Amino acid sequence: MPPFHAVAKVPPSLLLRQFALIYLFVAAILTVAIMVNVRLETQNRLDSTRVREAARVEIARNLVAKDFSLVTSDLRLLAEIPSLRRYLDSGSAAHATELANLFLHVAKTTARYDQVRYLDASGREVVRINFAAGKASVVPRAQLQDKSKRYFFRDAIKLDRNEIFISPLDLNIEHDRLEIPYKPMIRFGTPVFDSAGRKRGIILLNYFGEELLQHFREALLGGDQRSGMLLNRDGYWLSSVKREDEWGFMLGKPERTFGYDFAEEWNSISARESGALQTKNGLFVYATVYPLEAGQRSSTGSSMPQSSSLHELAGREYYWKLVSFIPSENISASSPDNRTGSRILFAVAYILLALGSLSIAYFRLSRRQVRLRLEEDEAHLREITGTMSDGLLVTDGNGKITFSNPEARSLLGYGENELAGSDMHDLLHVLADGTPCSKGDCNLLRVAQTGITYRGVEETFKCRNGTLLPVAVSASALVRKPGAAGIVVAFHDITERKKFQFELERRAQVDALTGLNNRRRFYELAEQEIVRARRYGKPVALMMVDADHFKAINDTHGHHIGDAVLQKLGAVCRQTMREIDIIGRLGGEEFAILLPEANAAQAQEAAERLCAAVAATAVPTQGESVFFTVSIGVTGLRETDHDATSILKRADAAMYEAKQAGRNRVCVRDAVPCVELDGIVATNNLMSNRQVKTGC
Ligand code: GH3
Ligand code: MG
Ligand code: MG
Repeated sequence: MPPFHAVAKVPPSLLLRQFALIYLFVAAILTVAIMVNVRLETQNRLDSTRVREAARVEIARNLVAKDFSLVTSDLRLLAEIPSLRRYLDSGSAAHATELANLFLHVAKTTARYDQVRYLDASGREVVRINFAAGKASVVPRAQLQDKSKRYFFRDAIKLDRNEIFISPLDLNIEHDRLEIPYKPMIRFGTPVFDSAGRKRGIILLNYFGEELLQHFREALLGGDQRSGMLLNRDGYWLSSVKREDEWGFMLGKPERTFGYDFAEEWNSISARESGALQTKNGLFVYATVYPLEAGQRSSTGSSMPQSSSLHELAGREYYWKLVSFIPSENISASSPDNRTGSRILFAVAYILLALGSLSIAYFRLSRRQVRLRLEEDEAHLREITGTMSDGLLVTDGNGKITFSNPEARSLLGYGENELAGSDMHDLLHVLADGTPCSKGDCNLLRVAQTGITYRGVEETFKCRNGTLLPVAVSASALVRKPGAAGIVVAFHDITERKKFQFELERRAQVDALTGLNNRRRFYELAEQEIVRARRYGKPVALMMVDADHFKAINDTHGHHIGDAVLQKLGAVCRQTMREIDIIGRLGGEEFAILLPEANAAQAQEAAERLCAAVAATAVPTQGESVFFTVSIGVTGLRETDHDATSILKRADAAMYEAKQAGRNRVCVRDAVPCVELDGIVATNNLMSNRQVKTGC
């Protein structure tokens, strides 16, 4: 089917709808993919953050444990040294000095104790080393204090041998006031015994909590997006990035607790050993540190100088919480979907998606429009070609049929599928006699090469049943690009026209009354025959036949009987003469007969037979039958006869002679030998009188 050039115009509303459908669908997929990706990436990031933070917390926990183990081993060492035993047994000043020197040495070399003390069983300081500004010094006896009311003394003195009291981490109190600047402190105490096994007081080490806190801060340091916190069991900050939050329990600020700021988180953190927690506030990774080992005791302590601990704490009750905290704004700031680069990337992806969707929508719609248009065109074309009275065949550039309309199929007797794909020329085109038409000479195929339309008044197509169909054809090249893309052949059946033409031709040659050749046709045929005879040296004779007294027949019986007589005369001529003889009515009641291959004598014989036959023929009428006679002039072809006129003239003259001689006879005008005719020499003015010859 030759396509019409369809230009697709896409309606904007349709385009918008199609675009929206495609875009929403693809954007939804992209969004889900991005969300999944972001979620996975966030999860990965959180997981790795958790692992990292957990590692930090673990390091911090180990550092704290190491600090505690150092201090407790120092304490055990001091509690067992011989100098102390000697002093406890003797109580001498010398031994006291020895002990003080030893304590001084320990304080100096370790540099981790604010105070190294021995308190007697009543709570009075007996030996005290202060360490300040990097220097250790023995406190003079006069400045020694009574610590009997302080909780750490009370809690430590109660203990048995090898038991250690570890105070909560709090701030140092000197002379009943908080020491400024704050001095975080943990007191490690253990009872000491003399050789008799009597409890004689306690050894007390004031461990610089600041060192421990420093270790902790260093372990949890790393980037400013997160902060490390150390909380005591009540949720008070021992260390915080916000220093003002620290030591709330010592400063009478009960609201400065982690639980106050992060109630929900504190519920989890205080209830579990360790873990990670993400809330709207951020990511919390936490662990619990239990510094006390077996044999170590503690108490709640007291911020009041003169009051005892509320109660003792068993090993598992003394703990701190290490918390690494990343606020949610820092998490989301580094989240993949929040990074500016990612946002730009996503925006570009959505824009590209929109452009892509628009292109696809346009492409799909325009293709659909073109298809619809083509279908419409094709339907239209089918409608047109279906109602066409002409047969229509379309071929491709190779002459293969691509389309046939119903009229073509009906004329040729082929089905649509039989025609489709067949070679038009091979299948249909033949010469008028049915022999194959050479492809090289085919006027229809030439159209594809020349591009010039061919109009054939008469071509022949061979139908499916073998009949030959004369057709008038119009073949045009189907031009789509440079060169022909095929041929369009329109044709119609000209059988009727041919019949009509034939009839016209026949009528132009035949005498209507007798069915014989008319004058013009007779002359034509006579000319041809004479030319042929002259060329091959063959004889030809001519008879001129004229009805006798025909006017009288008309007058007597009427014109129609005259016609009947003429018809009868024609019929008798046909019956009497040979098949090859050419008979014509020259006009009125005058007939001529050309006898090929016959000389004058043979013609004379035939003329006499005819003459007799006519005379014996009755023409029936309503009344009596009519009889009539003819006079015949005969002559043979002479060398001087170059055409029909001269021989006709001679025959006519002979016929005239026959008339003159009395009619109903044959007269031969051939006395002078002109043509050798099989040894018979015709004589001039030889007259045969049928009456004589036939005796009538
Ligand atoms: P002749 O013996 O000398 O030939 O006499 P004739 O009467 O036959 O010849 P003439 O030439 O005098 O007359 C011929 C007549 O033939 C005159 C004409 O009316 C008649 N005629 C010519 N054509 C036709 C025709 O087609 N039908 C009829 N019925 N008569 C015709
Ligand atoms: Mg006549
Ligand atoms: Mg006549």
